Amino acid sequence: MPDQNDFSPLIDPALCIRCGACEAVCPADAISCQDGIPRVKEKGMCTLCGECESACPIGAISVPFTIEWALSPRS
Ligand code: SF4
Ligand code: SF4
Repeated sequence: MPDQNDFSPLIDPALCIRCGACEAVCPADAISCQDGIPRVKEKGMCTLCGECESACPIGAISVPFTIEWALSPRS
């Protein structure tokens, strides 16, 4: 199973309009904008809360997730 630290928000620099909203809302202070383009400062800082994805006005940043199936035995 992947560890949470394996994931970071995915950022599309071609879409990003460099507004800085994702950096401003991040409660973990995990995002730093360099030349206007956001980057995750350090692996493991992101808590995958999704605030940056919600704040982005253009859908340039998204938080990955995994779906795990919990199989129960048939009776
Ligand atoms: S998902 Fe949450 S903790 Fe991670 S970079 Fe976005 S706002 Fe910050
Ligand atoms: S909120 Fe979206 S458009 Fe604004 S800097 Fe972040 S990724 Fe780029």
